[in-house]
Amino acid sequence: MNILEKIKNNALTHPRFEAMRSDKESINYHDLDKYSDYLAAYIEDTCGNNKSPIVVYGHKSVYMLICMLACVKSGRAYCPVDTSVPDSRTQSILNQMESPLALATEKLNCHFQRIVELNEIKEVIESQTKAISSDKWVNGEDVFYIIFTSGSTGMPKGVQITANCLNNYLDWSINLGTKKEDKIGKRFLNQAPFSFDLSVMDLYTCLACRGTLWSLSKGVQSDYKLLMQSLQESNAAVWVSTPSFAEICLLEKSFGEQLMPHLETFLFCGETLTNSTVSKLQKRFPNAKIINTYGPTETTVAVTEVHVTTQLNDTKSPLPVGHAKPGTFIEIRRENGEPAEEGERGEIIILGNTVSIGYYNNPENTKNKFFIKEIANKKVRGYRTGDEGYLEGDMLYYCGRIDLQIKLHGYRIEVEDIENNILKLNSITRAAVVPNTRNGKISSLTAYVVYKEKVEDAFATSLSLKEQLKEIIPEYMIPKKFVFLDQLPMNGNGKIDRKLLGGIAQ
Ligand code: AMP
Repeated sequence: MNILEKIKNNALTHPRFEAMRSDKESINYHDLDKYSDYLAAYIEDTCGNNKSPIVVYGHKSVYMLICMLACVKSGRAYCPVDTSVPDSRTQSILNQMESPLALATEKLNCHFQRIVELNEIKEVIESQTKAISSDKWVNGEDVFYIIFTSGSTGMPKGVQITANCLNNYLDWSINLGTKKEDKIGKRFLNQAPFSFDLSVMDLYTCLACRGTLWSLSKGVQSDYKLLMQSLQESNAAVWVSTPSFAEICLLEKSFGEQLMPHLETFLFCGETLTNSTVSKLQKRFPNAKIINTYGPTETTVAVTEVHVTTQLNDTKSPLPVGHAKPGTFIEIRRENGEPAEEGERGEIIILGNTVSIGYYNNPENTKNKFFIKEIANKKVRGYRTGDEGYLEGDMLYYCGRIDLQIKLHGYRIEVEDIENNILKLNSITRAAVVPNTRNGKISSLTAYVVYKEKVEDAFATSLSLKEQLKEIIPEYMIPKKFVFLDQLPMNGNGKIDRKLLGGIAQ
């Protein structure tokens, strides 16, 4: 069964069972299936022969989920955009879309040929009597979703994940930590917005296991008291988050087994899981399994896994990121493309049945990063991750990046993306953004900029630059500090000397 069939099956066998709960509303499997069927029929009628992907705008609401499922049931990919994305960036995503409509479950201040707003979506759901037939659903190599990630040119890149990729991924993720049977009917925690691929790990694994997705909204996450209260109420068995989010929760004394007595598994992905985070979690949750997974959006959420036992945590530092899931091959390549020896560091290459077909409307970037290789007489898609790592047997270790991509508080950012956006501001002629590290982890960003005029008040100018940047890039990408220089230092190759500026490649 593919994921859409599983959701329909859940609606038939357990119609009143809650599929998702956000802080405002909840929805059961019957309604989720029915409403998305109705909305899909409306999309099909409205879009006709135009099969282009559809932007779904909002923040973790049940209506956002209905819209996403409606798109794929109508045979069109959806592209989720969270409300935390600034309007101008959302606009640049919309500009790339050729669909006659976009679905907005929250107020969207952008221009598009037709924006179907929440009240209209509700009207369609209430008045429609026609449901979509399952032969319209996205299938096989059709694109299921497009998730935009930071791009070095200053424009986000849309990663296209097919139905096959998602279903292959789910065949594996339903058994992560505990067997699928042990996950049936349980609560899954959702930390990441739907526009980040980490959310696919909780959302679709949960729906495939007939669980309830317990979604933590932005508002809840930014208030410790509400957050702890919601975690307690969640009764969650499966935890999915970045390590950064768990570290924030660990700051709260009450965060432990007493607060979440039913928690069975922590699933981590997206950034380095440190030994110290694991030790703290093992103390607070002695009965929960901790699983580290690794993978970029381009290979569908995650492709490796390892159970971090106390023994592994005591003997390995840094921790491994795991061994490849079935259907995935990991290779380590030297700079010249040759395979590295066991234990030798090189670029991590991921091949297999969850590798994306490439970036949306972006053949140049697709060609640079994706390729096809024959393995055992079968053509397999491959992706050059830009991550550095090595293998010990089949166990993969991650060592950092070979380019300027970083992870800050779990967010994937191309440093050049920020720089190119800073350069859009009138008064700036040059910019270099450098990460600052604390305890071996990137903790903030500093922007070194050359200003056209003399800066009289650095504090006020920094504030003003930050305000201007808020309009064009997400808040998590805004540098904490601005340093004004007459010129940027250059190295012998004529490039900005980032090492000198702060030590990005140390
Ligand atoms: P994203 O596409 O947002 O999932 O980011 C993918 C990148 O996050 C990877 O290419 C890695 O650089 C990093 N990453 C993902 N998982 C891990 C992990 N378990 N440990 C360290 N870094 C990770």
